[in-house]
Amino acid sequence: MGFLRHAALCALVLAGALAALPVMAADCGPDALGTSRTITLKRGDGGAFGTVQHAPLPGLAKGEVVLTFDDGPVPVLTSQVLEALKAECARATFFMTGSNLDAHGELAKRAVAEGHSAGIHSYSHPHLGTLTAAAQLDDLARTQAAYRRLFGVAAASYRFPFLEETPTLMEALAKDGVAVFSIDLAITDWQPADTTAMLAERLSKALDEKGGGIILMHDANKPTADAIATLLRVIKQKGFRLVHVTWEG
Ligand SMILES: [Zn+2]
Repeated sequence: MGFLRHAALCALVLAGALAALPVMAADCGPDALGTSRTITLKRGDGGAFGTVQHAPLPGLAKGEVVLTFDDGPVPVLTSQVLEALKAECARATFFMTGSNLDAHGELAKRAVAEGHSAGIHSYSHPHLGTLTAAAQLDDLARTQAAYRRLFGVAAASYRFPFLEETPTLMEALAKDGVAVFSIDLAITDWQPADTTAMLAERLSKALDEKGGGIILMHDANKPTADAIATLLRVIKQKGFRLVHVTWEG
């Protein structure tokens, strides 16, 4: 192989490697929110995080936030959220329902391809505590099957619908080593009449009160999707740093 051909091949390989690198704040410029760092958890280690119900996420410092989005993926709205995150080089975790994984698999794959993490959030968002133990376990199995069909592995993280934990599923998730993600703060973004200004105000107040942590939002809600670009600016302008949670193994 001639030197030039070899050099060209090296350049191609290098370009490929660079393309695979995570997009960090520098790519969006210093004014973007960016993703300041990553906390990597080990697949299968389980645990339960978020001070509304459990211990803080290990290693998360004051002034740091983790973005989480529940109930998607759904057409249009999830895309809107993904576009806003991309524009700020911001990485989030999406807790997806099994029914939406089955119906909108391409969106779920897009979220992961764009560097986000994906966990699960029940099959069809029931009040799990009203179901029999067998029905709860069936819901988890169906949701994991939907996730596995798309991603080839079981989900490493779970958020309970309505944050309504049940002993049956807590035990099953612990046994499977699936991490339970509760929250540290929320902006109650499930009211259809909410405006962007209202959501921004709620987020600002919650950040002041809690000093950071795991934030719950809903990518399947139109007010949130419409507000998300503004909400990311609120986080940046208040000086909070975004942390992305990923899994290895
Ligand atoms: Zn939900």
